[in-house]
Amino acid sequence: MTNIKLIIIGHADRVVNFDLIKKFKSKFFKFSDIERINNLPNPQKDDGYLDIVYTKEEIQSIMKEIEFEGICLAIMNYGFDDNFYMHRVGANKVCISIFGLENILSEKTISIENFIIKNTYEVFIFYTILKNLTKHNEVYTFVHNDTRGCLFDMNGDKRDIVYNTEKPIICDECKGKISKKAIPKNFLEDIQKELSKIDKPFIKKIENFIAKYPLFSVLTTFIFSTIINLFSNWIWDFIIKK
Ligand SMILES: [Zn+2]
Repeated sequence: MTNIKLIIIGHADRVVNFDLIKKFKSKFFKFSDIERINNLPNPQKDDGYLDIVYTKEEIQSIMKEIEFEGICLAIMNYGFDDNFYMHRVGANKVCISIFGLENILSEKTISIENFIIKNTYEVFIFYTILKNLTKHNEVYTFVHNDTRGCLFDMNGDKRDIVYNTEKPIICDECKGKISKKAIPKNFLEDIQKELSKIDKPFIKKIENFIAKYPLFSVLTTFIFSTIINLFSNWIWDFIIKK
């Protein structure tokens, strides 16, 4: 079991429900710790806008002091200057920028928490097979540019995250590459099982269905209520006549 320390940089907890993430159950890892970094340096880059933007190097130095046996997963609501949403900033450290992602995800009613959990799996797999997240060249042999709904989609266009956040797969090509590494027995099968659980709550699915097929929903409601009405009349008759 790998321990994961969540690090809230700035005020990301205004957007992300960290309690929900901490409760997430996996047989591979657990969110064991949580830490805050509020004391942030002024970003060097000033592009004339009000948005706060950090470079990968700045985040590296902000997270430099943290020592942890396991993975350090930082979340910030600021952008990266290169517009990527995740950077590996140490042998066991990553930082996810959720800046601007909320709108993209909410269009498909995908939760930001699921997005973070999905990325946790990606980082966890790299950590398991490479032991060190800064083996950048090796990481790049996995990540692919085309969007397959795979955990290792590059998502160069951030809007593509809606295709591989919920129930992401590990595509055949990635499976092939991972199985060449030293991995525990049934690793890929078990990971895939857990990935398929990254999904919306059931109630959200119903809401979405109704929003998508309003006429169908009204009709089925009508038909069902009619049937129930007829049925209750029948019971009533049955009781009266007896
Ligand atoms: Zn893939």
